[in-house]
Amino acid sequence: MADEQRKKHIAILGSTGSIGTQALEVMEEQADHFQVEVLTAGNNADLLIEQSLKFRPNAVVIANEDHFDKVRDALWDADIKVYAGQEALTQVVEMEEIDIVLTALVGFAGLKPTISAIEAGKHIALANKETLVVAGDIITTLARNKGVNIYPVDSEHSAIFQCLVGEWNNPIEKIYLTASGGPFRGRTRADLAEVTKAQALKHPNWDMGAKITIDSASLMNKGLEVIEAKWLFGLKNEQIDVIVHPQSIIHSIAQFEDGSMKAQMGLPDMKLPIQYALGFPERLKNDFPRFNFLDYPQLTFEAPDKETFKNLQLAFDALEKGGNMPCALNAANEVAVELFLKDQIGFLEMSDVIAKAMHATQFKEKPTIDDLIETDRVARAFVRR
Ligand code: NDP
Repeated sequence: MADEQRKKHIAILGSTGSIGTQALEVMEEQADHFQVEVLTAGNNADLLIEQSLKFRPNAVVIANEDHFDKVRDALWDADIKVYAGQEALTQVVEMEEIDIVLTALVGFAGLKPTISAIEAGKHIALANKETLVVAGDIITTLARNKGVNIYPVDSEHSAIFQCLVGEWNNPIEKIYLTASGGPFRGRTRADLAEVTKAQALKHPNWDMGAKITIDSASLMNKGLEVIEAKWLFGLKNEQIDVIVHPQSIIHSIAQFEDGSMKAQMGLPDMKLPIQYALGFPERLKNDFPRFNFLDYPQLTFEAPDKETFKNLQLAFDALEKGGNMPCALNAANEVAVELFLKDQIGFLEMSDVIAKAMHATQFKEKPTIDDLIETDRVARAFVRR
């Protein structure tokens, strides 16, 4: 049993979301190893209060300031500091006691708190892939300079990371990111013109937040993961490939220069990569359900259909172009998904507006953070128009 001194102190940004709540389950099951230091929510004040009373963090942030009074009043005698607003997110990650910041916010909102955490020397367990998509070069350079580790939480990147353990001197030749193909695998564009929000929100293998579930249905999620992988593992574009694997048992594959391939397997359950990221380098014993080969007599593989699912191709285009283009892609996609979830545009229109927004973007080869904030703003405004 780890003593109190050796527990890792964790800040969870986005504790009320899909990743955040699963991270708290992991931390509860592994209470000897982890201490909850900070919790943050966007709008869900009730759940934040419930989590705070249970886990007794040092501080909490409710990003929507309208809920501040409610959270403060509920926690007034619990000896928990309560803050509100987006700015508080960037400040709370600097708290001295924090060892690891789990970034489980959704979208561009994760960028500033992640930069702030790295600047404060905190290790990052990164779920918020959009941050690396938007500013991968800046984030990874900053992390290197600060001696900060970025532990991937995304299951595919966790898989590659796990394949690399013990291989630090052996260069990767190629990686294969696996994709389930989402609920619309095998459909034609004519089929996709008709699909509804409810159908898109039904993922065959994973239970996730709404935005990433739509991204999985459109294959944008895989495109974002390709860009994320480039930065996490320092790869050239041509070293990253995508393979559709509908069973989601092989979480991704690393191929080395001798042609050998290592894959990481297991049931689709985000608690495992979350636990691995927080517990690294230890593999903590747990009771998660185990994989049984006989339940899956066939594991199958196919090429992704980039003609039908144009978002994946758009992400490869943005990667190829580089600079601020992935930022424009991400911003346009965030708004497109929001509009689709509000029934204001159809499924196929998402890729149409993203392509147009990328086309309209003023290209910057070496963008600063301010350039990226501006690119994000302009691309969002473009799609809304
Ligand atoms: P959810 O939508 O379930 O949760 C998002 C969390 O962020 C919630 O706590 C939400 O608060 C908070 N939040 C959202 N917007 C803001 C904002 N502007 N300011 C402050 N807080 C905000 O998302 P997921 O957990 O599904 O995904 C989180 C990240 O992890 C995404 O980047 C996703 O791509 C990535 N990821 C998720 C996986 C999954 O299985 N879910 C798998 C792999 C990666 P509230 O709800 O209180 O408003």
